Amino acid sequence: MKDLVVMKFGGTSVGSAERIRVACRILSEESRRRPVVAVISAMAKVTDLLLETLRRAEIGEEDGVRANLRRLEERHLSACRELLPERERAAVEEAIGQILNEFQRIAMGILMLGERPPRSVDEAVSVGERLAVLLVSAYLNAHGVRAEAVNGAEVIVTDAVFGNATPLMQPTRARAQARLRPLLEAGVLPVVTGFNGATVDGKPTTLGRGGSDFSASILAAVLDAAELWIWTDVDGIMTADPRIVPDAAVLDEVTYNEAAELAYNGAKVLHPRTLAPLIERRIPVWSKNSFAPEKPGTRIVPSIQVSNGARAVTSLPHVALISIEPASGVISGAQIMGRALEALGRANVEVLALSSSSYRQSFCFLVRESELGAAMEALEDALLLELEHGYIKPIEVDEEVGLLAVVGEGMRGTPGLAGRIFTAISRERINIIAISQGSSELTIAIVVRRNELEKAVRAVHAECRMAEQAHARSSAV
Ligand code: ASP
Ligand code: MG
Repeated sequence: MKDLVVMKFGGTSVGSAERIRVACRILSEESRRRPVVAVISAMAKVTDLLLETLRRAEIGEEDGVRANLRRLEERHLSACRELLPERERAAVEEAIGQILNEFQRIAMGILMLGERPPRSVDEAVSVGERLAVLLVSAYLNAHGVRAEAVNGAEVIVTDAVFGNATPLMQPTRARAQARLRPLLEAGVLPVVTGFNGATVDGKPTTLGRGGSDFSASILAAVLDAAELWIWTDVDGIMTADPRIVPDAAVLDEVTYNEAAELAYNGAKVLHPRTLAPLIERRIPVWSKNSFAPEKPGTRIVPSIQVSNGARAVTSLPHVALISIEPASGVISGAQIMGRALEALGRANVEVLALSSSSYRQSFCFLVRESELGAAMEALEDALLLELEHGYIKPIEVDEEVGLLAVVGEGMRGTPGLAGRIFTAISRERINIIAISQGSSELTIAIVVRRNELEKAVRAVHAECRMAEQAHARSSAV
């Protein structure tokens, strides 16, 4: 099935009955032209509400849990009432009730235990997506498009890192083909839950917050899809966050590498791990706005012909800088660094930037604030002996920093660009705390004080004339 397209709709694109209608119209039009697999997120804010409910359960707030359950039920039942004619409602209402009962059972277990095991959280939190696919598939069927709701746990096989699992591509390919091919061949549109999977032996997992994009790209890869379309509420990938830079422009085309760098460094349009599964098969991705489907969006492709200089700048305000320094010269800094990185890798903590000094044997690196707890635990565990015996100094953490990343394939081999970027930042009297640039020269990452981050982003965006370049490119096409 060479012309298969996977279409993923994010939470705001299925956030209400009205948005679900629009999403279904897009799906139904496309499915007249070629086979489609839909991947759906939970309705906007539902995952947050589910997680908050479980936190309340853990601290014993039974009233809060029950109030949230009522809100969840009302939100989905009212969408159901708006979407479906009366005679088709009963079965869906009953299914909504059953899924919410499962959630309630887990929440009550957590309430009794006073503890929130990651495994139970993963099982519970995927109900947001299961409710959403139920509504979408029921609406499609009611409007003459044969569709079937599929639980991602049936088709995506992962490791057992609950809350942030990694797919196992071979078994996923086998299961997804076995479950979804027959549907597609029979002309049925599979509507698959984003965000979740299961281990080989069937324990429910999730792929991390915002993981539905990743679900969609995993399925696109294992089904050998021709294209992946990611529907969101913004016009595509932009030269900068428009809330920080009002004249930021949409980029018509970016490479996988550029998009991945932007996603890892804070651009919210794509989950950072989305592109990896697609690279081998060179499957192109469209990032489109379901609130303005007529707009072209951004196309993400393996490579583009001409790309000039720095194309976009992103920022991550919620990061922390961790510094590790041996207390004496007899300790090998490289060995400590190796063990530190290995420990972070095992804990699935992302290292966003790293820089080291060979003379002092010290090194510092940047992690997301949300992963700081896990990072410190992993480091203190791995370096326990050295810390206890004073071979390395106490690990230092600076949380008042922010990261800015300047990205563009065309930065490679452009002399003077880094100098211009640093000058633009220092012209604003902003101090640069750390810098890192990989040898691919695709990204320059710069750490500054958090309260100066936005100013630095604006300075770089203006200096590199990113908006002008983006407009010039899209009008040339
Ligand atoms: N619903 C999940 C979340 O909010 C996954 C997603 O939306 O991509 O994190
Ligand atoms: Mg999302």
